[in-house]
Amino acid sequence: MKRIIIIGGGIAGLGAAYKVNRAASEGHEVEFILLEKDRRLGGKIQTEMVPDPSEKGRFIVDGGPDCFLTEKPACHRIAKLTGIFDEELPTDDTRRRTWILSRGKLHQMPDGVMMFAPTKFVPFATTGLFSWPGKIRMGMDLFIPPKKVVPGELNDETLERFVVRRMGRECLDRLAEPLVGGVHASDPKQMSLAATFPRLLEMEQNYGSLLKAFIAVRRKIEEMRRKYPAKRDEKPRTFFTSFVNGMQQITDAMADSAGREKMRTGVAVTSLHRAGNGEWIARLSDGSTVDGSAIILATESWAAEPLVRPHDAAIADALAAIPTSSSATVSIAFNEAEVGFDLNAFGVLCPLVEGRALMAATYSSTKWPGRAPKGKALLRGFVGGPHNQEILKRSDENLVQTVLSEFQEILGLNLFAKPLFSRVFRWHLGMPQYTLGHLDRIGLIEDRCGQIPGLALAGGSYRGVGVPNCIESGEQAVSKILGEWGIDLAEDHIEEKRYY
Ligand SMILES: Cc1cc2nc3c(=O)[nH]c(=O)nc-3n(C[C@H](O)[C@H](O)[C@H](O)COP(=O)(O)OP(=O)(O)OC[C@H]3O[C@@H](n4cnc5c(N)ncnc54)[C@H](O)[C@@H]3O)c2cc1C
Repeated sequence: MKRIIIIGGGIAGLGAAYKVNRAASEGHEVEFILLEKDRRLGGKIQTEMVPDPSEKGRFIVDGGPDCFLTEKPACHRIAKLTGIFDEELPTDDTRRRTWILSRGKLHQMPDGVMMFAPTKFVPFATTGLFSWPGKIRMGMDLFIPPKKVVPGELNDETLERFVVRRMGRECLDRLAEPLVGGVHASDPKQMSLAATFPRLLEMEQNYGSLLKAFIAVRRKIEEMRRKYPAKRDEKPRTFFTSFVNGMQQITDAMADSAGREKMRTGVAVTSLHRAGNGEWIARLSDGSTVDGSAIILATESWAAEPLVRPHDAAIADALAAIPTSSSATVSIAFNEAEVGFDLNAFGVLCPLVEGRALMAATYSSTKWPGRAPKGKALLRGFVGGPHNQEILKRSDENLVQTVLSEFQEILGLNLFAKPLFSRVFRWHLGMPQYTLGHLDRIGLIEDRCGQIPGLALAGGSYRGVGVPNCIESGEQAVSKILGEWGIDLAEDHIEEKRYY
């Protein structure tokens, strides 16, 4: 029996555990032990059920991710295999609206904006979000020739350079930065386009213009929807999906299915050693050791770095060169009748140029049905990110006060609205930054790992921060190890579905 030691119990580590378990259930002589330093599994995925303080019912508070991109298949696949596919929760698109703060006022995101490209003329022409010179500059994208690229090379540039080159500075500051930089909690000045949005480079080359490319994409989606309308008994396929009981439902289901008895929490791996026979020995924070034939490091890159260093300094240097930023989410609940502003929206984005402490706010109980009992509202503020690491030095009470006064000033929250409860979730160094050179660093890490039998890395630090990407990276780590042992596991098969 060969044992794989999985370090880290976030979604990537659980994805790896689930796959090893499947290999075992198909008769292969493999097993795993998963080691997690926190007292709970799930990593950044954390949902808290908060009883309604006054009446029956409960709030469902997601502290980390509150959804995944519907078009990516990994979460659907795992949800099917673990029996929670029917628990997938689409957004309530009857109330879909996004506000963007611009020059101190809220403007509705114009209909037809895809990523940061307007694809419908009238809503774009009539929005007060951009100045007329800004709009004209964005329209010039239609006439600016695509960048000359060198075939076979990455042709990378920062997100800032790309957006300013094609659509102008106002588009970057007022739309692209809060939408795209905010989702990644990253600085567009540093973000590698090739690592985060390689499709944009392709679109520019294929269509010669981003506007033309996005208009073509929108038409294609509309055509698909016309051709394959949602069946009456089918849930609507919205752009984002979550789970009825919050995002932790998927990590809980994965842990249950893979076997919690093989997962130890509250113990950190402090060092990794290799015996003469090639076996790995993990030394733990409680003084004990665990041995196995392979290691999957499914931690944050900065946590993997000291564990890898004695075995390969070049991998460790590349891991150390992946920057991270810290952030926090602050969820606050209210009586709906007291909030004093229209809750019919998914949330508000605050561009960096507005100089606010709040990066974004989600109206959680509007976006996701069932997140708050009837008559109650749950709002979530997002603070931190690369430009405001200082704010994380504040106490939880101070963060709640800060977010509350931002809600009052920006959303128009009634000064007398009394919070029913609040929850602060801090994510220290929780968001890897895919800066220029990221793909070279990952290429080096993968090449060198390929030469070290029994070692693989997984997680959001490498090839995609999204929850589905992290699942896949855990699975790929297992494939690497099993491949070295001559085990070829057939891909999980699920019935083909249209996801949006
Ligand atoms: C606030 C926030 C909001 C987000 N929103 C979204 C979203 O809406 N949609 C989306 O798709 N993505 C979102 N993301 C990104 C996504 O949540 C993460 O990329 C993903 O959850 C990371 O999973 P992971 O398993 O790679 O890492 P983690 O979840 O960080 O797991 C790594 C685990 O390793 C453990 N560990 C570290 N060192 C050791 C050690 N020495 N020994 C043992 N254990 C160790 C850690 O305790 C941790 O539990 C968000 C992220 C954040 C922070």
